[in-house]
Amino acid sequence: MFDNLSDKLNAVFKKLKGRGTLTEKNIEEGLKQVRLALLEADVNYRVAKKVISDIKERALGQDVMDSLTPGQQIVKIVYDEFTTMMGDEHEALNFGGATPASIMLVGLQGSGKTTTAGKLALFLRKNGRKPYLVPVDVYRPAAIEQLQKLGSQIGVPVFPSTAQMAPVDICTEAVRSAINEGCDTLLIDTAGRLHIDEELMAELEAIKKSIKPSEILLVADAMTGQDAVNIAESFDKRLNLGGVILSKMDGDARGGAALSIKAVTGKPLKFIGVGEKTTALEPFYPDRMASRILGMGDTLSFIEKAQEAVDIKKAEELEKKLRKNQFTLEDFMDQISSVRKMGSIKELIGMLPGINKKQLAGMNIDDREFVRIEAIINSMTPQERRDHAIIKGSRKKRIAMGSGTTVQDVNKLLKSYTQAMKVVKKFNKGGLRSLKNMLPF
Ligand code: GDP
Repeated sequence: MFDNLSDKLNAVFKKLKGRGTLTEKNIEEGLKQVRLALLEADVNYRVAKKVISDIKERALGQDVMDSLTPGQQIVKIVYDEFTTMMGDEHEALNFGGATPASIMLVGLQGSGKTTTAGKLALFLRKNGRKPYLVPVDVYRPAAIEQLQKLGSQIGVPVFPSTAQMAPVDICTEAVRSAINEGCDTLLIDTAGRLHIDEELMAELEAIKKSIKPSEILLVADAMTGQDAVNIAESFDKRLNLGGVILSKMDGDARGGAALSIKAVTGKPLKFIGVGEKTTALEPFYPDRMASRILGMGDTLSFIEKAQEAVDIKKAEELEKKLRKNQFTLEDFMDQISSVRKMGSIKELIGMLPGINKKQLAGMNIDDREFVRIEAIINSMTPQERRDHAIIKGSRKKRIAMGSGTTVQDVNKLLKSYTQAMKVVKKFNKGGLRSLKNMLPF
């Protein structure tokens, strides 16, 4: 996400930061490069022009030029202006006053609407709501089936729509059915077309009129760049959107849509989709995204994911064990599975400051390694798990056989366990505080 743009901006900033003093010409030359980088990332032309002129106005101020670290000040100004361009604050979902609330998802076919409905359902449930999925794409029975499958995968009820029902009837019946099921939020997966057409818009307007949704969200494919922005404008004109969700931000989207959508349409980007899994949805925070783009990492999202995955009680128990040197291989496996719950290791490392795509590609991280580790630990006896010192030659051979690995694998695991003990001890001393110290501002 944004790798190309990040690399280009960092090259510009490196030059600016390298100088003790800056002239107007240095700044103008630097900002010209920033503008080019934005256009290459497919940022809307007018938006790029406006943001550069805002940055320039502040950067050419005397307090920047005279400061001891003018380059750094400019990076801060760019960060501020990028944040503003993307909407400043995170905008939460609007549930309105009515119960049940209903969120209508609209968008073109293939934009990721159905997948996003499943992701949102999971997100809402994690946040204490009781979602109810409603498939309305009666023209494509496969779409109804897809949502039913997703619903049963994540354990969220799905309204039993059929291809014979009329879209508006489905929605009004689904509201009654949601109440019966004890649900408080309907997620309506509307039909999509390959292109915007009158028939589709009329159907969406009719649904809007009949159920008065608390929120209409457009799901658009980030890979389509400025097309996504144009689509958002068209849907907004007819339906008055509450916000946008950009899917496929994990692909090689250049980022232009995320950067321009708020500035062009006035409608906030509320979430981004970052993968095909149901957990791959992130609430969108303009400031965190600006800091990711500028290569400062996204430590806050990282901390949030960590907090979600870590069971505080368990963490306290572990801390006690560590202090008493009773941290066993069983605890090690527990730690690994809670880290795995957070997502792929590469995705997590990618959120940390100063890591770029090239470095990440160079790291030899294989999530399958964890599966191997679990298999090895599972092949140990409880006694071995509690006291790794007894694992010698013949035990190692038995464990390797049992887990379908080699003695070298077992040795490697024992080595990383002892290393992990050291790291965990260090981390526990500083706790989350040490992570927060890594924040750029
Ligand atoms: P719909 O026609 O709008 O309902 O689109 P689908 O939900 O069926 O999604 C179309 C394709 O995009 C599917 O293959 C999804 O797995 C994929 N997809 C959806 N969201 C994301 C995302 O955030 N990242 C990636 N990589 N793929 C996605």
